[in-house]
Amino acid sequence: MGFESFIGNSNTVELLRSMMTKQRLPHAILLSGPAGIGKYTLAQMLTKAIFCVNDQKHNAAEFCGECRNCRLIALADDRHAAVERAEEEREKLSRRPREIPLRIQHHADLCLLPPNGPLRHFQIEQARYLKEALTFLPASGRKKVFILPEVERMDEAAANALLKSLEEPPPYALLLLTTASEASLLPTIRSRCVTLWMAPVQRQHVCEFLKRSGVGADQRERELRAALSNGCPGAAQRMDLEHYLSVRESLLALLHAGASRRDFAGLFRHTQNLSREKERLENLLRVLYSLLQDILHIETKANGEPLRNADRPKELLQIARILGPAGAAAATASLSSLERNLRRNVSMQIALEAFAVSLAPLRLSAVRDRH
Ligand SMILES: [Zn+2]
Repeated sequence: MGFESFIGNSNTVELLRSMMTKQRLPHAILLSGPAGIGKYTLAQMLTKAIFCVNDQKHNAAEFCGECRNCRLIALADDRHAAVERAEEEREKLSRRPREIPLRIQHHADLCLLPPNGPLRHFQIEQARYLKEALTFLPASGRKKVFILPEVERMDEAAANALLKSLEEPPPYALLLLTTASEASLLPTIRSRCVTLWMAPVQRQHVCEFLKRSGVGADQRERELRAALSNGCPGAAQRMDLEHYLSVRESLLALLHAGASRRDFAGLFRHTQNLSREKERLENLLRVLYSLLQDILHIETKANGEPLRNADRPKELLQIARILGPAGAAAATASLSSLERNLRRNVSMQIALEAFAVSLAPLRLSAVRDRH
């Protein structure tokens, strides 16, 4: 137990620990990195280290995982389960539960303010609650910590309300924000935080972590999870592999049919399957993006990294040869219009078919450009 159990990004971990040892923790820290890399886990660990009351520990910037405080904080280690429980509780409280700021608090000086509701949004009520709560001194005499995961899931009004707390935080405040999409945050939010970046972890380390956690039937599955999650341990662990692979098969078929202008009957079958599953939009776009990235790199090996969908090289190469690098790049760029369509509630089937049909002309223009 302790920081040594954190997978990868040791520079970031050591930086945090040294800031803590020197009592130089800033008032607001933004942990930025891909989903499932461990931003929230690291925030939890730091918080445990701050409140750990184990007098046997030899390093101030460490936690035991066993004392009363460590165990209380650990109640929210599984954030998704904690949010689900808190939402259920809130439903019982009022007829308009969504106006109540969702907060998860197991320790007097630690509060988790997660995005919530059907749209998984950070509420303006949560930002107001934070401002109010910051005016109270910490009960422990140490710090008052607020964890705000996925801060990109916040509209401008909520972000502006949050800014007030970031502008003049009291000396005991520690706001731990996380994001997988730093670019979409308001610059005023970013500039008031100290940003620490977290990068994908070597696949071999992800595999070892999965093995220790008892995830994956065999080494082959663990390697596949590590590759598909692009070196994000949490994502590799949580991934519903069977479901992921079935979505990926449909998307591969869609790319192939669209690019080669063949097998449109098969294409419709796959888009129908995808829309019937009510696949979560973000997930779908993520899988599609990872396929297109691989297609873009498979021939050029431009980024020198192993493929994410390393178990399907033949299919990827086939599509790459049809589309060409320019076509693959254009297809990646057109993902944003697919996303816009889907967010505008255009039916998923129609939006996906339009995307597939748009691939063939990309190929033609790529060919034209070459001549
Ligand atoms: Zn402890």
